[in-house]
Amino acid sequence: MLHHAVFFDRDDTLNYDPGYLGNPDLVKLFPGVPQGISKLKNELNFKIVVISNQSGITRGKITENDVLAVNRKINDLLKEEGTGIDKFYHCPYHPDFDDEEKCKCRKPSPLMIFTAAEELKLDLSKCYFVGDKASDVLCGFNAGIKTVLIKSGNFEEEINILINENKTPNFVAANFLDATNFIYNDFAGAQV
Ligand SMILES: [Mg+2]
Repeated sequence: MLHHAVFFDRDDTLNYDPGYLGNPDLVKLFPGVPQGISKLKNELNFKIVVISNQSGITRGKITENDVLAVNRKINDLLKEEGTGIDKFYHCPYHPDFDDEEKCKCRKPSPLMIFTAAEELKLDLSKCYFVGDKASDVLCGFNAGIKTVLIKSGNFEEEINILINENKTPNFVAANFLDATNFIYNDFAGAQV
């Protein structure tokens, strides 16, 4: 049987982003993140997957291990609330430093979604992507799944990119819980 999943961007979606986050001690989740994830996971059986660009690695600002340590810290914090991320994916490359082939994983490419779909046996017609940037929404679009854009300080710029490309999200959320509530209702409604 195939599973359904919600893909989340990591930085500035799940946790505050100080820029090239590599120190697990600096990880701080946004309000509502454990509750929102828990509800999707426990009540609707969604797999929870993180899809993140981490070009800080190729830039030499942070290491692969730093990224993994931050991921572990996110799951430690979620575990305290009885929930967690099922799998993390990240793309360490950037076109300024790496060739086209390597950069194929980088959002807005849907490659990480397709990899997750294969590894976790996902039905992409029942999946969602949630993020704070245009590249997150475009990544979801490129995989053919529903998308949610969470309003950030940079919202005007992000939504304008999407309007110009005629690829606006299915929902614009005021905050994390608003995003997960939309998915909850949309998915539950579709099952009736
Ligand atoms: Mg982000």
